[in-house]
Amino acid sequence: MREIQMVDLNAQYEKIGHEIDGAIKSILLSTAFIKGPDVRLFENELQEYMGVKNVVSCANGTDALQLAMRVLNLKPGDEVITTDFTFIATVEVVALLGLKLVIVDPEPGTYNISAEAVRKAITPKTKVIVPVHLFGQCADMESLMDLAKKNKLFVIEDAAQATGADYLFKNGTYKKAGTIGHIGTTSFFPSKNLGCYGDGGALYTNDDDLAKKLRSIANHGMKIRYHYDDIGINSRLDTIQAAILRVKLKHLTEFNKARAAVAAKYDKAFSTCQFISVPQRVTYSSHIFHQYTIRVKNGKRDALKSFLESRKIPSMIYYPGPIHMQEAYGFLGYSENDFPVTTSLCKEVLSLPMHPEMEQEQIDYIISAILEFFKK
Ligand SMILES: *Cc1c(COP(=O)(O)O)cnc(C)c1O
Repeated sequence: MREIQMVDLNAQYEKIGHEIDGAIKSILLSTAFIKGPDVRLFENELQEYMGVKNVVSCANGTDALQLAMRVLNLKPGDEVITTDFTFIATVEVVALLGLKLVIVDPEPGTYNISAEAVRKAITPKTKVIVPVHLFGQCADMESLMDLAKKNKLFVIEDAAQATGADYLFKNGTYKKAGTIGHIGTTSFFPSKNLGCYGDGGALYTNDDDLAKKLRSIANHGMKIRYHYDDIGINSRLDTIQAAILRVKLKHLTEFNKARAAVAAKYDKAFSTCQFISVPQRVTYSSHIFHQYTIRVKNGKRDALKSFLESRKIPSMIYYPGPIHMQEAYGFLGYSENDFPVTTSLCKEVLSLPMHPEMEQEQIDYIISAILEFFKK
């Protein structure tokens, strides 16, 4: 059996390497390393896949969040509501731009924020809601968009973990995760469902004016060559990364399907184990399993993790600490017990190996090790 990895980019390269090599070689020969044709071609292809009017690529997912907040003309002190249970990038840009971070607890089952929790946190200074589609399943966007509309708020979806997830509206129509809010952001970090071989990111919007401004801010605030309308930044997707992403985008549907098949096997195996909560599914979103994250209910999460390590099975804790308890965010003035859901999730969650190249033998081996641990 091949050694088990959380994400096995080697196994993936063995399958699609010939396509990737050709794509990289063509950029080496063209020398169009910055803003070469593949960048726009990738944006166009991703636009089509996502069913969105504009994709604006940038250097990484954190920049995408920063660009999204910059383009909305927010003032220092404006409030941004987001979750306590996310990767730090979601909140750091809020702090960097002098905006006020307002944290809410997620739902214990879906790990995502609810409209109800956000509603309670709204004040006259609230300007933006940032739902994070954690681990690959959408937050309740229809309720969040209704709430935003009533309160005249912007919604920036952090869709870094949900590239390809489908959101189902009550009227039966679908949209892709990241294309529902005013702006969506994503990351092409190598381990993401659509990942490149370095850093990369993008924004989605159906608003052509916002897209134009985003392009300008990501390019030093330049509208016409060497004329600067805004204070911008330099945030570009490399042409080589765009060429790699063009190859990988063609496989994304099949990759996400393979992840879902692994998840179904985990679900079935763990459904009878009283100490494990499998990831909750919702009717309004598909789940593309960026992570398959269980909750260990008997206080033995860390012991399980060590046991799996002894069997050469990797696992990860996403995330070990709530945002509100990070030293850097102490200035927000939250106290330990303010967000009990996140605090308990941080003690219970464990993400298991999850990638499209997992072999049946590996899945069986992981399942039997976990069930053995709880039988002891
Ligand atoms: C990965 C990730 C980001 C940041 O992406 P980078 O490309 O690493 O900057 C932001 N938000 C979430 C939820 C992520 O998972």
